[in-house]
Order: sequence, then C-alpha cells, then structure tokens
Amino acid sequence: MSLEENLSWEFLKNLANALDSYRIRAFIDAKRDILEAGIYNEMQYENILYKMLDEERLKYSLFNFLKNNSENDLNTLKKFSQINSIEIVKTLSLFELLRNEKLLIVEELFDEIKGEEDTTERLIFKDFIIKILDEDNVKLKTIYEPVKVIFDSKNCSGCGLCAGICPVNCLHIYNGFGKIDEDKCIRCGLCYFVCPRTYLPVKILNMVQENTSEIKDYSKAGYFIEVYSARTKVKEISEVCQDGGISSTCIQYLLDNNKIDYALGAKMSNTLWRPEPLLIKNKEELISAAGTKYVNNPNLQLLNQNELNDKKIAVIGVPCQMQALLKSKIYNIGFPSLNNVEYRIGIFCMESFSYESLLKICEKVNIDIKNAKKMDINKGKFFIYPETGEELNIPIKEISNLAREDCEICYDLTSESADISIGSIGSPSGWNTVLIRTEKGKNLYNELIKSGLIESKPIQDVKPGLPLLQKIAGSKKTKSKKHIRLKMDENKRVPNY
Ligand code: SF4
Ligand code: SF4
Ligand code: SF4
Repeated sequence: MSLEENLSWEFLKNLANALDSYRIRAFIDAKRDILEAGIYNEMQYENILYKMLDEERLKYSLFNFLKNNSENDLNTLKKFSQINSIEIVKTLSLFELLRNEKLLIVEELFDEIKGEEDTTERLIFKDFIIKILDEDNVKLKTIYEPVKVIFDSKNCSGCGLCAGICPVNCLHIYNGFGKIDEDKCIRCGLCYFVCPRTYLPVKILNMVQENTSEIKDYSKAGYFIEVYSARTKVKEISEVCQDGGISSTCIQYLLDNNKIDYALGAKMSNTLWRPEPLLIKNKEELISAAGTKYVNNPNLQLLNQNELNDKKIAVIGVPCQMQALLKSKIYNIGFPSLNNVEYRIGIFCMESFSYESLLKICEKVNIDIKNAKKMDINKGKFFIYPETGEELNIPIKEISNLAREDCEICYDLTSESADISIGSIGSPSGWNTVLIRTEKGKNLYNELIKSGLIESKPIQDVKPGLPLLQKIAGSKKTKSKKHIRLKMDENKRVPNY
C-alpha cells in the first residue's frame, strides 16, 4: 500500500514516531512554517512527506531483513530486491543510508584492477561483508541535522543545493560559505540528506550513470560512452566563450527547441569576477553567462524559486553540483524543482577560489582585477589575460594554498555525474573536450551536430587528447585521497564517499 492513500494526520505522526524519525516528525510539526515560506504548496508538501515516509519505511524493512539473517553479503541485498520487486540499485541506495547512519559495519572486497592508460580503468568490486550492530550498541534514530556541521568542518563545496531545497528558506550561501538562520530552521535535516559532502554513494552514482546493475569503481575520468573534441559554430557564442563554447551551445539548442524553459548558470555580478547565480531564459542572458568563473558560485540555490516547480530546467555546473543533483535523483523524495532538472551539463573543475583569494592571485601577477579580461587554468598554470593582450601566469603550485579548503578533498575533475561533461583539458586551444556519459547526453550531442551548431572530431584526432585528461583526472583523485587521509589523521570530519 502506498502512503499516498488517504491516511489521517494522527496516523502519519504515529508512523513517524514508530520509525523513530526525528526529521519526519519535525517536517510534520512545521507544516505551517513550510507553507508560509511559499516554496512548496500543500500538495507538494504532502508529496514530499509521503515519499519521506515511504523511503524510511523501506529502509527499516531492509534493516530488519538483514538483522534476521546470520550472514549478509551482496546476495542478501539481491534477495531483498527480488522479494520487494525493486531494482538492486534502489536496495543499494537504502543500504548506503543505513551504513551512513552507522547501523551497519561494511567491508568491501575487490578482485582486481583492469584498464589501459586511456580507457576507463576500474576496480572490480567483488562483495560486501555486512555486519549489523547489535541493539545494545545502537539506538534506531536518524543522524540528520542541519548542514552547519558541513560548513563548520570546511567540507562544504558551496554547491548551493541545501539552500535550493530548504523548505523554510532559512539557509543561504554567499561567497561560497553557508549560513543558517537557526531561529527559522525546523531541523528537518533535508539539507543534510541532499548534500554531496555528508555522504555520497559514488558506486551507486556510477551504476546510475552506466545504467548497470553491476557495482563498479572508476578511477580517472569516470564512466563515459564516447569522447570528442568540439567547438561551436555559433558566431555570437564563439566571440565570448572560454574555449570551444560547447556548454553555451547546448543551452542555446535546448532553449530554441523548447526542450527546457530555463537554464541555471552563473554570470558576473556588479563586482567584476565575483559571479552570481543566474536563471537563463534567452540568448542574451546566455551570452552574459559565457566564460569560466574561478570563484565559487552556488547556482543550485536558485532551485528554491516557486516558479521553477513546473518548469523544465538544465543546469550548467561544476562536478560537486552534478554530484549533488545525481544524489538527489537517486534519493528522490519529490522536490518539484529537482525533478524538473532535465539535463546536467557538467564542466571540468580543478579547484575554485574565494573572491578574496582571486584578488591575491591578481596581486601576485601584478594586475588590477578590473583589468582582467579572461582567466584560465591550463598546463599547470593559472593564466590571466588583460585587455592589452598580454599573457600573465603563475604556476598552480604557487597558489594552491589560496584554493578553497574543500576543493582539496574533491575527487572529481570531469563532472562524472553529468549527462555531458565539457572542458578544455585534452583539446587544442579554442576547442572543448566533451565526454558523453548518458543516453540523454548522447542524444543532445548528436542533435547539436545534426543542427549544424558544432564542429566535432574524434578525440583520437587531436593532441594532447584523452591520455592527458585521464592523467590529470587520476592525479586529482590521488590528491583528494591524500587530503582526506590527512584530515582523518587530525580527527577532522570528512565526507563519506
Ligand atoms: S556542499 Fe552544497 S549542499 Fe552541502 S552544505 Fe555545502 S552548499 Fe550545502
Ligand atoms: S536548514 Fe536544513 S534542517 Fe534547517 S530547515 Fe533548512 S533544510 Fe531543514
Ligand atoms: S574542485 Fe570540486 S569542490 Fe571545488 S568547486 Fe570544483 S567541483 Fe566543486
């Protein structure tokens, strides 16, 4: 029976109590505050509540199933999927929740490592050994809390999704850092639930991307179907774009063909080089958003607008934003604007800076930020191009201490959770490297070619090509593991990837 059938309010409260779910009780008790905030209407509020209850019920049913078995492994999870007629990826997502709520102790076994330098190398997952914590050691209650713990531990990537879904609009990200109005917060924990820096089930993200029931662990640039080098043929875009202009061309095609109503991106604010989120509705706004910005921009924050609840959206964003969107798609509890995200267009990202750090970089290369026309990271250097046409640069090594601390623990260079990922590494100047990751991404790319909007070459035809991209993506993963270990050694909080 689905909970969407007419159940009394009292029954729902009792059910939340029975599930020992503090966050669902908080969500029920704050119904008035939520409706007054105006992000969700009554029907949307109830849909979210029913979904939360359904998910919670199914999660504890998996917990009890595991508790009733003496030995648990991947086969037990498959059996649960069969009995409940759900896909293994769904069971695994609930299993990850239980694991992150510290109700299970899990050991992962791997078989071997496969792959060549320029192919999708991967670890071959073999099995889980799953132990249930006995009831004397565990009390069944949720661990969800506001994401203040993520801000305070400097793990927040500033993606903006927590602010984009907060039902009472009490959370804001500015200049990459978050703040919660504690008086308004209803402690529903939804921000914690969607945040990519609390826990991120990377293996499940990979399964969804590849549309497979096999568990895989990719190194380097993640799973992709095809890879190309491409550039735009649209004159207005080629005049303002950073490299090949493919991300802007994707948005132009999607808007022109009514595949989306809006795109979420970033534009320069009144303070030059300090970006701000932008809802792109037409070509003029698209052109104003062109070019890479190296200061963190929480564009997912804009998802909290009521008008997006019935619009089709594409999001252009960095890898941590693509992870946040894909995680929320897997743990879909019915946020209307999130359900309307039709396309995830990811861009490559090595690291980002605060605006204040960017000022320091400009100081180091001796330029006033107001005179910087373009910025770029390439070949291990940060480049700044002034209006005068010179080229100023500084090795990344010399400014790495200025990057955001949370970027040190970021494993993803190439937006592995996007439908289509776009960046400059691997392609010649003026071109983009494009990784097609999903069928949706593939169809979009083919449409761009068919419509004569882009010029496309197989990546094998260009230098330096895929080996360089794989190498740099691999080294970002190694660096991230090192920084996570360092934080753990200092007993600091780290995201659970
Ligand atoms: S990583 Fe994103 S969702 Fe998590 S706290 Fe930071 S801004 Fe919010
Ligand atoms: S800040 Fe987080 S816990 Fe507080 S109301 Fe918003 S989503 Fe819920
Ligand atoms: S390096 Fe990672 S965490 Fe930092 S902005 Fe880029 S994608 Fe986000």
